[in-house]
Amino acid sequence: FMKRKLGLTSKILIGMTLGIFVGLILRIAFPDSQFVQEYITEGVLNVIGTIFINCLKMLVVPMVFISLVCGTSSLSEPSKLGRLGGKTLAFYLFTTAIALVLAIFVAVIIHPGSNTLSTANLVYDAKDAPSLAQVIINIVPTNPIKAMTDGNMLQIIIFAVIFGFAVSHVGDKGRRVAAVFEDLNDVIMRVVTLVMYLAPYGVFALMGKLALTLGLGTFADVLKYFGVVLGVLLLHGFVVYPTLLKLFTGLNPLIFMRKMRDAQLFAFSTASSNATLPVNMETAEHRLGVDNRVASFTLPLGATVNMDGTAIMQGVATVFIAQVYGIHLSIQDYFSVVVTATLASIGTAGVPGVGLVMLAMVLKQVGLPVEGIALILGVDRLLDMVRTAVNITGDSVATMIVAKSENAFDSETYHDTNAGKVRS
Ligand code: ASP
Repeated sequence: FMKRKLGLTSKILIGMTLGIFVGLILRIAFPDSQFVQEYITEGVLNVIGTIFINCLKMLVVPMVFISLVCGTSSLSEPSKLGRLGGKTLAFYLFTTAIALVLAIFVAVIIHPGSNTLSTANLVYDAKDAPSLAQVIINIVPTNPIKAMTDGNMLQIIIFAVIFGFAVSHVGDKGRRVAAVFEDLNDVIMRVVTLVMYLAPYGVFALMGKLALTLGLGTFADVLKYFGVVLGVLLLHGFVVYPTLLKLFTGLNPLIFMRKMRDAQLFAFSTASSNATLPVNMETAEHRLGVDNRVASFTLPLGATVNMDGTAIMQGVATVFIAQVYGIHLSIQDYFSVVVTATLASIGTAGVPGVGLVMLAMVLKQVGLPVEGIALILGVDRLLDMVRTAVNITGDSVATMIVAKSENAFDSETYHDTNAGKVRS
């Protein structure tokens, strides 16, 4: 008689389901209970869930820095780095644009919003966005340690790339430094697997709390909006990505989708691309067969700038809000939505709920009332979870494609079902 061991994915799924189940039962059995609210929702579940997310977040900055120094120090020619960066950014923009066109197209066809509100006496405050010059200046840190304490990803990337580049240009000394960073990289990857063991419990707590607190807007239009965003997210995640992967690499996308499941579950339950970054990097390098040279650069960058799921929500939301307020959008307006939402999704930080904040920028650009955001607030938490899973999948698809084209990909690891699998 052999006892079958459950894989991590199954354990996470069980934790998730149990969490929702327990949360809903408590909610139904003890509605408005002060005790449940104080000791369970904000007590036990909150403590466990937050500690789990903190464990992931604590790894992000050291991991990105160490891994990226490893990656760039083995990439000795600056031209290679430039090509890698250019390709990656081009691909990120390309997929985000596809996501937006798809989102707007479906939202216009299905028409989730009926004109129920008028803009007759609306006033709204326009906050100033930082100037483009300032945004560009801010990419270079004045103090790398501060960039790390702030978790400013772009600044950390810039410093690590320059540092790693210098490492590869000081001969033997550089090789010694590079060796230390490679050892550190193995250690931090090991810490990631340790934290992954906590996932089933962390996910249980997060889902339990969600089930206890989530209020859903019930009226029909908002549900239709929810359905449209969800539908486009699933379409993008399950049809567009696999197609792109097949088209650009010739690899079997089913293997990719299967191996991405853990990372997607992490993204779903934390609603944060940044918090999922350690898991996504470990998946790319140990399970998908992407070389550290590429993954260490493309994934942190993607977690920061590439948000296809967020762009989809913003595209549908813009069309929806226009429909609800009965405002006609022209072809130029749609074009401007694609451009600003691409920029907005780049500017969105990989943390929960920011996509909704950045939506204000898109609405303002096409002259729609920013208050419209209030309409979709109620269902945003759930959509945030799904779109984060799409966001990080997009980062990995691009990473695979770039890696394959740079010959930084190990096909054996990719096809080995058990490669890098976390066993517990
Ligand atoms: N939560 C999303 C992420 O981290 C960002 C957003 O759309 O709010 O990827």
